[in-house]
Amino acid sequence: MSSSGAEPSIFSRIIDRQIPATIVAETDRLIAFEDIAPKAPVHVVITTKDPQYRNVVELAAGDPALLADLVELARQIASERTGGQFRLVFNTGEAAGQTVFHVHAHVMGSSAASDTLG
Ligand code: 5GP
Repeated sequence: MSSSGAEPSIFSRIIDRQIPATIVAETDRLIAFEDIAPKAPVHVVITTKDPQYRNVVELAAGDPALLADLVELARQIASERTGGQFRLVFNTGEAAGQTVFHVHAHVMGSSAASDTLG
């Protein structure tokens, strides 16, 4: 419930391996895992290990290089899973659908494998 940062976000608990997730990629500063409630055939969440930025606007202002790294990781994941075309969504603010106030991107697309199978 908290959006103040007073208690660890659900994503910090995934990063700390306190709750399970299907992790698909990890770097020193980023982690990517499958969304628990996928809205597309491929739906991966990428978040920063550092929880200090609540949304993409704060991340862009505070650490643009890390935002660029996040986009590059999204490209790599999409290259493997969707054939390279994808949506990259940052819900920003409660009224826009943001529920976890720990910056993250949704990588969404069609499965390259299912496309191949028709
Ligand atoms: P937001 O609504 O903040 O943009 O995105 C949060 C996303 O996190 C949602 O798509 C939601 O399904 C996902 N999510 C919430 N809790 C968990 C969890 O415990 N595990 C995983 N893998 N995803 C979660």
